[in-house]
Amino acid sequence: MSYQSINPFTNTPMESFNELSEAELEAKVAMADACFRTWRHASYRYRAGIIGHVAALLREQAEAFARVMTMEMGKRISEARGEVAFSAEILAYYAEHAERFLAPVALHPAKGEAHMESSPLGVIFGVEPWNFPYYQLARVAGPHLMAGNTLLIKHAGNVPQCAIAFERLFLEAGAPAGLYTNLLISHEQSNRLIDDPRVRGVALTGSVQAGRSIAARAGQNLKPSSMELGGSDAFIVLADADLDHTVQWAVWGRMYNDGQTCCAAKRFIVVEPLADAFLARFQTALARLVPGDPMDEATTLGPLSSETALVELLQQIDVAVAHGANIVMGGKRFDRSGAFMQPTILSGVTSDNPAFRDEFFGPVAMFFRVKDEEAAIALANDSDFGLGGSVFTQDLARGRHVASRIDTGMMFVNNIAWSDAELPFGGIKNSGYGRELGDMGIQAFVNKKLVRTLGGNAPA
Ligand code: NAP
Repeated sequence: MSYQSINPFTNTPMESFNELSEAELEAKVAMADACFRTWRHASYRYRAGIIGHVAALLREQAEAFARVMTMEMGKRISEARGEVAFSAEILAYYAEHAERFLAPVALHPAKGEAHMESSPLGVIFGVEPWNFPYYQLARVAGPHLMAGNTLLIKHAGNVPQCAIAFERLFLEAGAPAGLYTNLLISHEQSNRLIDDPRVRGVALTGSVQAGRSIAARAGQNLKPSSMELGGSDAFIVLADADLDHTVQWAVWGRMYNDGQTCCAAKRFIVVEPLADAFLARFQTALARLVPGDPMDEATTLGPLSSETALVELLQQIDVAVAHGANIVMGGKRFDRSGAFMQPTILSGVTSDNPAFRDEFFGPVAMFFRVKDEEAAIALANDSDFGLGGSVFTQDLARGRHVASRIDTGMMFVNNIAWSDAELPFGGIKNSGYGRELGDMGIQAFVNKKLVRTLGGNAPA
Protein backbone atom coordinates (compact mmCIF):
# COMPACT_ATOMS: atom_id res chain seq x y z
CA MET A 1 0.00 0.00 0.00
CA SER A 2 1.76 3.18 -1.08
CA TYR A 3 -0.43 5.68 0.87
CA GLN A 4 -0.23 4.87 4.54
CA SER A 5 -0.15 6.86 7.79
CA ILE A 6 2.28 5.31 10.27
CA ASN A 7 2.90 7.24 13.47
CA PRO A 8 6.74 7.39 13.71
CA PHE A 9 6.61 8.05 17.48
CA THR A 10 5.19 4.57 18.04
CA ASN A 11 5.75 3.02 14.58
CA THR A 12 2.05 2.10 14.64
CA PRO A 13 0.17 1.90 11.32
CA MET A 14 -2.83 4.24 11.53
CA GLU A 15 -4.68 4.26 8.22
CA SER A 16 -4.10 3.29 4.61
CA PHE A 17 -5.67 4.46 1.37
CA ASN A 18 -6.15 2.90 -2.05
CA GLU A 19 -4.62 4.42 -5.15
CA LEU A 20 -7.02 5.85 -7.71
CA SER A 21 -8.22 3.59 -10.50
CA GLU A 22 -7.57 4.75 -14.06
CA ALA A 23 -11.24 5.74 -14.41
CA GLU A 24 -11.17 7.77 -11.18
CA LEU A 25 -7.98 9.51 -12.24
CA GLU A 26 -9.41 10.35 -15.66
CA ALA A 27 -12.52 11.86 -14.06
CA LYS A 28 -10.38 14.08 -11.84
CA VAL A 29 -8.14 15.25 -14.67
CA ALA A 30 -11.22 16.05 -16.79
CA MET A 31 -12.69 18.02 -13.89
CA ALA A 32 -9.50 20.06 -13.41
CA ASP A 33 -9.40 20.78 -17.13
CA ALA A 34 -13.06 21.84 -17.22
CA CYS A 35 -12.60 24.02 -14.16
CA PHE A 36 -9.68 25.81 -15.82
CA ARG A 37 -11.91 27.01 -18.64
CA THR A 38 -14.01 29.10 -16.24
CA TRP A 39 -11.44 29.81 -13.51
CA ARG A 40 -9.04 31.36 -16.02
CA HIS A 41 -11.65 34.08 -16.69
CA ALA A 42 -12.55 34.68 -13.02
CA SER A 43 -11.52 38.10 -11.69
CA TYR A 44 -8.63 38.38 -9.24
CA ARG A 45 -11.16 39.59 -6.70
CA TYR A 46 -13.22 36.43 -7.07
CA ARG A 47 -10.15 34.19 -6.93
CA ALA A 48 -8.88 36.06 -3.86
CA GLY A 49 -12.23 35.49 -2.17
CA ILE A 50 -11.80 31.71 -2.48
CA ILE A 51 -8.08 31.52 -1.66
CA GLY A 52 -8.46 34.01 1.21
CA HIS A 53 -11.29 31.86 2.55
CA VAL A 54 -9.07 28.76 2.41
CA ALA A 55 -6.44 30.67 4.44
CA ALA A 56 -9.07 31.70 7.02
CA LEU A 57 -10.36 28.13 7.35
CA LEU A 58 -6.83 26.84 7.83
CA ARG A 59 -6.32 29.34 10.65
CA GLU A 60 -9.63 28.34 12.27
CA GLN A 61 -8.73 24.64 12.13
CA ALA A 62 -5.04 25.12 12.91
CA GLU A 63 -4.86 22.83 15.92
CA ALA A 64 -6.50 19.88 14.16
CA PHE A 65 -4.26 20.35 11.12
CA ALA A 66 -1.13 20.53 13.28
CA ARG A 67 -2.02 17.35 15.14
CA VAL A 68 -2.57 15.35 11.94
CA MET A 69 0.89 16.41 10.75
CA THR A 70 2.55 15.46 14.06
CA MET A 71 0.80 12.11 14.02
CA GLU A 72 1.74 11.31 10.40
CA MET A 73 5.35 12.49 10.18
CA GLY A 74 6.46 13.23 13.74
CA LYS A 75 7.00 17.00 13.60
CA ARG A 76 7.04 18.47 17.11
CA ILE A 77 3.66 20.07 17.79
CA SER A 78 4.98 23.61 18.32
CA GLU A 79 6.73 23.48 14.92
CA ALA A 80 3.62 21.94 13.36
CA ARG A 81 1.50 24.86 14.61
CA GLY A 82 4.05 27.29 13.17
CA GLU A 83 3.90 25.56 9.80
CA VAL A 84 0.10 25.71 9.67
CA ALA A 85 0.14 29.45 10.47
CA PHE A 86 2.79 30.08 7.81
CA SER A 87 0.86 28.09 5.20
CA ALA A 88 -2.22 30.27 5.80
CA GLU A 89 -0.01 33.36 5.55
CA ILE A 90 1.30 32.27 2.12
CA LEU A 91 -2.22 31.70 0.77
CA ALA A 92 -3.38 35.10 2.10
CA TYR A 93 -0.26 36.79 0.68
CA TYR A 94 -1.02 35.64 -2.88
CA ALA A 95 -4.73 36.42 -2.49
CA GLU A 96 -3.67 39.98 -1.72
CA HIS A 97 -0.80 40.52 -4.18
CA ALA A 98 -1.41 38.32 -7.24
CA GLU A 99 -3.14 40.98 -9.29
CA ARG A 100 -0.24 43.39 -8.80
CA PHE A 101 2.37 40.73 -9.65
CA LEU A 102 0.57 39.80 -12.87
CA ALA A 103 -0.53 43.26 -13.98
CA PRO A 104 0.25 44.13 -17.63
CA VAL A 105 3.70 45.69 -18.04
CA ALA A 106 4.13 48.55 -20.54
CA LEU A 107 7.07 48.19 -22.93
CA HIS A 108 8.70 51.01 -24.83
CA PRO A 109 9.32 50.06 -28.48
CA ALA A 110 10.76 52.62 -30.87
CA LYS A 111 7.45 52.60 -32.74
CA GLY A 112 3.87 52.02 -31.65
CA GLU A 113 2.62 50.64 -28.34
CA ALA A 114 3.46 47.32 -26.69
CA HIS A 115 2.86 45.58 -23.41
CA MET A 116 3.28 42.16 -21.77
CA GLU A 117 0.25 40.33 -20.44
CA SER A 118 0.29 37.40 -18.04
CA SER A 119 -2.23 34.64 -18.59
CA PRO A 120 -2.53 31.19 -16.97
CA LEU A 121 -1.32 28.03 -18.72
CA GLY A 122 -3.90 25.44 -17.63
CA VAL A 123 -3.78 22.41 -15.36
CA ILE A 124 -0.51 22.29 -13.38
CA PHE A 125 0.66 19.03 -11.79
CA GLY A 126 2.50 19.34 -8.46
CA VAL A 127 4.47 16.55 -6.73
CA GLU A 128 5.24 17.35 -3.09
CA PRO A 129 7.28 15.93 -0.17
CA TRP A 130 6.23 14.99 3.37
CA ASN A 131 8.69 17.13 5.35
CA PHE A 132 6.46 20.24 5.30
CA PRO A 133 3.10 18.63 4.53
CA TYR A 134 1.05 21.87 4.30
CA TYR A 135 3.65 24.56 3.61
CA GLN A 136 4.71 22.78 0.41
CA LEU A 137 1.09 22.67 -0.75
CA ALA A 138 0.47 26.34 0.10
CA ARG A 139 3.64 27.28 -1.79
CA VAL A 140 2.14 25.97 -5.04
CA ALA A 141 -1.58 26.52 -4.36
CA GLY A 142 -1.32 30.22 -3.44
CA PRO A 143 0.51 31.46 -6.54
CA HIS A 144 -0.63 29.06 -9.24
CA LEU A 145 -4.34 29.17 -8.40
CA MET A 146 -4.32 32.95 -8.03
CA ALA A 147 -2.64 33.10 -11.47
CA GLY A 148 -5.71 31.35 -12.91
CA ASN A 149 -4.33 27.81 -13.26
CA THR A 150 -5.92 24.73 -11.68
CA LEU A 151 -3.93 22.16 -9.71
CA LEU A 152 -3.55 18.40 -9.52
CA ILE A 153 -1.36 17.38 -6.57
CA LYS A 154 0.44 14.14 -5.79
CA HIS A 155 1.59 14.27 -2.16
CA ALA A 156 4.07 11.87 -0.51
CA GLY A 157 2.95 8.36 0.38
CA ASN A 158 3.37 8.80 4.16
CA VAL A 159 1.14 11.90 4.61
CA PRO A 160 -2.17 11.00 2.95
CA GLN A 161 -4.28 12.41 5.77
CA CYS A 162 -2.55 15.80 5.50
CA ALA A 163 -3.07 15.71 1.73
CA ILE A 164 -6.78 14.91 2.02
CA ALA A 165 -7.37 17.48 4.79
CA PHE A 166 -5.78 20.25 2.70
CA GLU A 167 -7.93 19.38 -0.34
CA ARG A 168 -11.06 19.46 1.82
CA LEU A 169 -10.37 23.11 2.74
CA PHE A 170 -11.00 24.16 -0.87
CA LEU A 171 -14.39 22.47 -0.98
CA GLU A 172 -15.31 24.03 2.38
CA ALA A 173 -14.27 27.43 1.03
CA GLY A 174 -16.68 27.10 -1.91
CA ALA A 175 -14.02 26.50 -4.58
CA PRO A 176 -15.35 25.13 -7.87
CA ALA A 177 -14.92 21.38 -8.32
CA GLY A 178 -11.58 20.69 -10.00
CA LEU A 179 -9.78 23.79 -8.75
CA TYR A 180 -7.49 21.90 -6.35
CA THR A 181 -7.43 18.09 -6.54
CA ASN A 182 -5.44 15.67 -4.42
CA LEU A 183 -4.40 12.51 -6.29
CA LEU A 184 -3.46 9.27 -4.54
CA ILE A 185 -1.51 7.86 -7.50
CA SER A 186 1.53 5.71 -8.26
CA HIS A 187 4.75 6.94 -9.89
CA GLU A 188 3.64 5.23 -13.09
CA GLN A 189 0.32 7.11 -13.10
CA SER A 190 2.27 10.28 -12.35
CA ASN A 191 4.40 9.68 -15.45
CA ARG A 192 1.34 9.24 -17.63
CA LEU A 193 -0.17 12.39 -16.18
CA ILE A 194 2.91 14.37 -17.22
CA ASP A 195 2.38 13.03 -20.75
CA ASP A 196 -1.30 14.06 -20.73
CA PRO A 197 -1.84 17.03 -23.06
CA ARG A 198 -4.26 18.62 -20.58
CA VAL A 199 -1.41 19.04 -18.08
CA ARG A 200 0.52 22.18 -19.01
CA GLY A 201 3.28 22.38 -16.38
CA VAL A 202 4.94 20.33 -13.62
CA ALA A 203 6.21 21.49 -10.21
CA LEU A 204 8.25 19.11 -8.04
CA THR A 205 9.67 19.51 -4.57
CA GLY A 206 11.62 16.42 -3.64
CA SER A 207 14.86 14.49 -4.01
CA VAL A 208 17.42 14.79 -6.80
CA GLN A 209 16.45 11.32 -7.99
CA ALA A 210 12.79 12.30 -8.35
CA GLY A 211 13.88 15.54 -10.01
CA ARG A 212 15.88 13.72 -12.68
CA SER A 213 12.94 11.47 -13.51
CA ILE A 214 10.15 14.07 -13.45
CA ALA A 215 12.10 16.87 -15.16
CA ALA A 216 13.12 14.44 -17.94
CA ARG A 217 9.51 13.43 -18.46
CA ALA A 218 8.36 17.06 -18.54
CA GLY A 219 11.21 17.84 -20.94
CA GLN A 220 10.18 15.06 -23.32
CA ASN A 221 6.76 16.67 -23.41
CA LEU A 222 8.20 20.19 -23.80
CA LYS A 223 6.38 21.31 -20.67
CA PRO A 224 7.74 23.93 -18.28
CA SER A 225 8.79 22.62 -14.90
CA SER A 226 10.13 23.91 -11.61
CA MET A 227 12.42 21.75 -9.49
CA GLU A 228 12.93 22.37 -5.77
CA LEU A 229 15.34 19.60 -4.80
CA GLY A 230 17.76 18.71 -2.04
CA GLY A 231 20.58 20.66 -0.47
CA SER A 232 23.70 20.43 1.67
CA ASP A 233 23.93 24.01 2.87
CA ALA A 234 27.18 25.37 4.26
CA PHE A 235 27.18 27.12 7.64
CA ILE A 236 30.33 29.25 7.53
CA VAL A 237 31.78 30.65 10.74
CA LEU A 238 34.35 33.43 10.28
CA ALA A 239 36.98 34.34 12.88
CA ASP A 240 35.09 37.33 14.29
CA ALA A 241 31.73 35.55 14.74
CA ASP A 242 29.86 35.92 18.03
CA LEU A 243 29.86 32.31 19.21
CA ASP A 244 26.83 32.56 21.51
CA HIS A 245 24.68 33.80 18.64
CA THR A 246 26.30 31.45 16.13
CA VAL A 247 25.89 28.24 18.15
CA GLN A 248 22.20 28.99 18.82
CA TRP A 249 21.62 29.27 15.07
CA ALA A 250 23.76 26.19 14.41
CA VAL A 251 21.51 24.09 16.64
CA TRP A 252 18.32 25.53 15.18
CA GLY A 253 19.64 25.33 11.64
CA ARG A 254 20.57 21.67 11.92
CA MET A 255 17.78 20.46 14.23
CA TYR A 256 14.64 22.29 13.06
CA ASN A 257 12.13 19.69 11.82
CA ASP A 258 14.52 17.09 13.27
CA GLY A 259 17.03 17.96 10.55
CA GLN A 260 14.65 17.03 7.72
CA THR A 261 14.72 20.33 5.87
CA CYS A 262 16.08 20.90 2.36
CA CYS A 263 17.74 24.17 3.36
CA ALA A 264 18.97 23.03 6.79
CA ALA A 265 22.57 23.77 7.72
CA LYS A 266 24.34 20.51 6.92
CA ARG A 267 28.05 21.35 6.52
CA PHE A 268 29.56 23.37 9.37
CA ILE A 269 32.70 25.08 8.06
CA VAL A 270 34.61 26.88 10.81
CA VAL A 271 37.86 28.83 10.49
CA GLU A 272 40.77 27.59 12.59
CA PRO A 273 40.76 30.18 15.44
CA LEU A 274 37.17 29.34 16.45
CA ALA A 275 37.01 25.68 15.41
CA ASP A 276 37.62 24.01 18.80
CA ALA A 277 35.40 26.37 20.76
CA PHE A 278 32.57 26.12 18.23
CA LEU A 279 32.70 22.32 18.14
CA ALA A 280 32.71 22.00 21.93
CA ARG A 281 29.75 24.34 22.36
CA PHE A 282 27.78 22.87 19.46
CA GLN A 283 28.23 19.39 20.91
CA THR A 284 27.14 20.51 24.39
CA ALA A 285 24.03 22.18 23.00
CA LEU A 286 23.04 19.15 20.90
CA ALA A 287 23.56 16.82 23.86
CA ARG A 288 20.88 18.73 25.79
CA LEU A 289 18.12 17.65 23.39
CA VAL A 290 15.93 14.92 24.83
CA PRO A 291 13.78 12.58 22.73
CA GLY A 292 10.09 12.42 23.56
CA ASP A 293 6.50 12.52 22.40
CA PRO A 294 6.23 15.08 19.57
CA MET A 295 2.66 15.89 20.74
CA ASP A 296 4.14 17.14 24.05
CA GLU A 297 5.16 20.81 23.87
CA ALA A 298 8.03 20.17 26.29
CA THR A 299 9.75 17.68 23.96
CA THR A 300 12.99 19.01 22.47
CA LEU A 301 13.74 16.16 20.02
CA GLY A 302 11.08 14.38 17.96
CA PRO A 303 11.28 11.20 15.87
CA LEU A 304 12.28 11.11 12.22
CA SER A 305 9.43 10.84 9.72
CA SER A 306 9.59 7.05 9.50
CA GLU A 307 11.50 3.94 10.46
CA THR A 308 12.66 3.68 6.83
CA ALA A 309 14.14 7.20 6.96
CA LEU A 310 15.98 6.30 10.16
CA VAL A 311 17.42 3.09 8.71
CA GLU A 312 18.62 4.95 5.58
CA LEU A 313 20.30 7.63 7.68
CA LEU A 314 22.10 5.01 9.79
CA GLN A 315 23.32 3.32 6.61
CA GLN A 316 24.67 6.65 5.31
CA ILE A 317 26.59 7.10 8.57
CA ASP A 318 28.04 3.58 8.25
CA VAL A 319 29.25 4.39 4.72
CA ALA A 320 30.76 7.69 5.90
CA VAL A 321 32.63 5.94 8.74
CA ALA A 322 33.79 3.10 6.45
CA HIS A 323 35.39 5.80 4.29
CA GLY A 324 37.27 7.40 7.18
CA ALA A 325 34.82 9.80 8.90
CA ASN A 326 34.96 10.12 12.71
CA ILE A 327 31.87 10.19 14.91
CA VAL A 328 32.32 13.13 17.30
CA MET A 329 28.96 12.39 18.96
CA GLY A 330 25.85 10.29 18.35
CA GLY A 331 25.79 8.06 15.29
CA LYS A 332 23.14 5.61 16.55
CA ARG A 333 19.41 5.35 17.10
CA PHE A 334 18.15 5.98 20.63
CA ASP A 335 17.60 2.83 22.62
CA ARG A 336 13.83 3.25 22.83
CA SER A 337 10.73 2.73 20.68
CA GLY A 338 9.99 5.01 17.73
CA ALA A 339 12.14 6.37 14.88
CA PHE A 340 14.52 8.38 17.11
CA MET A 341 18.01 9.29 15.88
CA GLN A 342 20.75 10.66 18.14
CA PRO A 343 22.01 14.15 17.25
CA THR A 344 25.23 13.34 15.42
CA ILE A 345 28.40 15.18 14.43
CA LEU A 346 30.82 13.72 11.88
CA SER A 347 34.32 15.06 11.33
CA GLY A 348 37.17 14.03 9.05
CA VAL A 349 34.89 13.72 5.99
CA THR A 350 37.35 14.00 3.11
CA SER A 351 36.45 14.78 -0.49
CA ASP A 352 36.80 11.11 -1.52
CA ASN A 353 34.17 10.05 1.05
CA PRO A 354 30.68 9.56 -0.50
CA ALA A 355 29.30 11.50 2.50
CA PHE A 356 31.11 14.61 1.26
CA ARG A 357 28.61 14.96 -1.60
CA ASP A 358 25.57 13.43 0.13
CA GLU A 359 22.59 15.06 1.77
CA PHE A 360 21.98 13.88 5.36
CA PHE A 361 18.23 14.27 5.84
CA GLY A 362 18.14 14.12 9.63
CA PRO A 363 20.07 15.34 12.69
CA VAL A 364 23.57 14.68 11.31
CA ALA A 365 26.06 17.55 11.04
CA MET A 366 29.33 17.38 9.13
CA PHE A 367 32.05 19.49 10.78
CA PHE A 368 34.97 20.93 8.78
CA ARG A 369 37.91 22.92 10.15
CA VAL A 370 39.49 25.30 7.59
CA LYS A 371 42.52 27.61 7.55
CA ASP A 372 40.79 30.86 6.64
CA GLU A 373 37.94 32.62 4.84
CA GLU A 374 39.21 31.72 1.36
CA ALA A 375 39.35 28.04 2.28
CA ALA A 376 35.85 28.27 3.74
CA ILE A 377 34.45 29.71 0.50
CA ALA A 378 36.24 27.09 -1.61
CA LEU A 379 34.91 24.24 0.55
CA ALA A 380 31.35 25.67 0.60
CA ASN A 381 31.38 25.79 -3.20
CA ASP A 382 32.75 22.26 -3.54
CA SER A 383 29.27 20.75 -3.56
CA ASP A 384 26.91 19.27 -6.13
CA PHE A 385 24.10 21.17 -4.41
CA GLY A 386 23.40 24.89 -4.51
CA LEU A 387 20.32 25.62 -2.43
CA GLY A 388 21.15 27.97 0.48
CA GLY A 389 23.85 28.73 3.02
CA SER A 390 24.84 31.00 5.89
CA VAL A 391 27.80 33.05 6.97
CA PHE A 392 28.37 34.22 10.54
CA THR A 393 30.52 37.29 11.28
CA GLN A 394 30.20 40.55 13.20
CA ASP A 395 31.30 42.46 10.09
CA LEU A 396 28.11 42.65 8.01
CA ALA A 397 29.82 44.02 4.89
CA ARG A 398 32.26 41.14 4.98
CA GLY A 399 29.41 38.71 5.51
CA ARG A 400 27.62 40.03 2.42
CA HIS A 401 30.85 39.86 0.43
CA VAL A 402 31.35 36.19 1.34
CA ALA A 403 27.65 35.53 0.63
CA SER A 404 28.12 36.93 -2.89
CA ARG A 405 30.89 34.42 -3.56
CA ILE A 406 28.91 31.29 -2.64
CA ASP A 407 27.25 29.49 -5.57
CA THR A 408 23.74 28.92 -4.23
CA GLY A 409 20.25 30.29 -4.82
CA MET A 410 20.01 31.87 -1.35
CA MET A 411 22.50 33.15 1.25
CA PHE A 412 21.84 34.38 4.78
CA VAL A 413 24.14 36.56 6.91
CA ASN A 414 24.04 35.82 10.67
CA ASN A 415 20.92 33.83 10.05
CA ILE A 416 19.70 30.53 8.68
CA ALA A 417 18.19 29.70 5.31
CA TRP A 418 14.49 30.18 5.84
CA SER A 419 11.55 31.32 3.77
CA ASP A 420 9.13 34.21 3.89
CA ALA A 421 6.04 34.55 1.71
CA GLU A 422 7.53 37.60 -0.03
CA LEU A 423 11.06 36.27 -0.71
CA PRO A 424 12.00 33.93 -3.56
CA PHE A 425 13.08 30.41 -2.59
CA GLY A 426 15.08 27.96 -4.69
CA GLY A 427 18.47 26.75 -5.80
CA ILE A 428 20.93 25.97 -8.57
CA LYS A 429 22.99 22.89 -9.56
CA ASN A 430 21.48 19.65 -8.21
CA SER A 431 19.19 21.70 -5.96
CA GLY A 432 17.05 22.37 -9.02
CA TYR A 433 15.79 25.39 -10.91
CA GLY A 434 13.02 27.94 -10.72
CA ARG A 435 11.90 29.88 -7.66
CA GLU A 436 8.86 29.57 -5.46
CA LEU A 437 7.34 32.30 -3.24
CA GLY A 438 7.46 36.07 -3.70
CA ASP A 439 6.76 37.72 -7.03
CA MET A 440 8.96 35.18 -8.87
CA GLY A 441 6.95 32.25 -7.53
CA ILE A 442 3.77 33.29 -9.34
CA GLN A 443 5.53 33.75 -12.70
CA ALA A 444 6.49 30.08 -13.12
CA PHE A 445 3.37 28.90 -14.95
CA VAL A 446 2.04 31.95 -16.76
CA ASN A 447 2.23 32.87 -20.41
CA LYS A 448 4.10 36.15 -20.78
CA LYS A 449 2.44 37.41 -23.89
CA LEU A 450 3.56 40.35 -25.99
CA VAL A 451 0.76 42.50 -27.45
CA ARG A 452 1.97 45.14 -29.88
CA THR A 453 -0.14 47.82 -31.61
CA LEU A 454 1.42 49.46 -34.64
CA GLY A 455 -0.31 51.22 -37.51
CA GLY A 456 1.04 51.83 -41.00
CA ASN A 457 1.05 49.80 -44.18
CA ALA A 458 2.89 46.52 -44.74
CA PRO A 459 6.21 46.92 -46.59
CA ALA A 460 5.74 46.57 -50.33
P1 NAP B 1 11.19 12.08 -2.78
O1 NAP B 1 11.38 10.65 -2.49
O2 NAP B 1 11.73 12.63 -4.01
O3 NAP B 1 9.60 12.32 -2.68
C1 NAP B 1 9.05 13.60 -2.93
C2 NAP B 1 7.75 13.42 -3.70
O4 NAP B 1 8.07 12.93 -5.00
C3 NAP B 1 6.80 12.41 -3.10
O5 NAP B 1 5.47 12.81 -3.34
C4 NAP B 1 7.12 11.14 -3.88
O6 NAP B 1 6.06 10.24 -3.89
C5 NAP B 1 7.35 11.73 -5.24
N1 NAP B 1 8.16 10.94 -6.16
C6 NAP B 1 9.40 10.46 -5.96
N2 NAP B 1 9.86 9.85 -7.07
C7 NAP B 1 8.87 9.97 -8.01
C8 NAP B 1 8.72 9.54 -9.35
N3 NAP B 1 9.69 8.88 -9.98
N4 NAP B 1 7.57 9.81 -9.99
C9 NAP B 1 6.58 10.48 -9.37
N5 NAP B 1 6.66 10.91 -8.09
C10 NAP B 1 7.79 10.65 -7.42
O7 NAP B 1 11.75 12.98 -1.62
P2 NAP B 1 11.83 12.68 -0.08
O8 NAP B 1 13.10 12.00 0.17
O9 NAP B 1 10.61 12.07 0.45
O10 NAP B 1 11.84 14.20 0.43
C11 NAP B 1 12.95 14.83 0.85
C12 NAP B 1 13.72 15.48 -0.29
O11 NAP B 1 13.02 16.64 -0.72
C13 NAP B 1 15.06 15.96 0.20
O12 NAP B 1 16.05 15.75 -0.77
C14 NAP B 1 14.82 17.45 0.42
O13 NAP B 1 16.00 18.20 0.41
C15 NAP B 1 13.89 17.76 -0.71
N6 NAP B 1 13.15 19.01 -0.43
C16 NAP B 1 13.44 20.13 -1.17
C17 NAP B 1 12.81 21.33 -0.89
C18 NAP B 1 13.12 22.57 -1.67
O14 NAP B 1 12.32 23.50 -1.66
N7 NAP B 1 14.23 22.65 -2.39
C19 NAP B 1 11.86 21.39 0.12
C20 NAP B 1 11.59 20.23 0.85
C21 NAP B 1 12.25 19.04 0.57
P3 NAP B 1 6.10 8.90 -2.99
O15 NAP B 1 6.14 9.33 -1.58
O16 NAP B 1 4.81 8.22 -3.37
O17 NAP B 1 7.32 8.13 -3.43
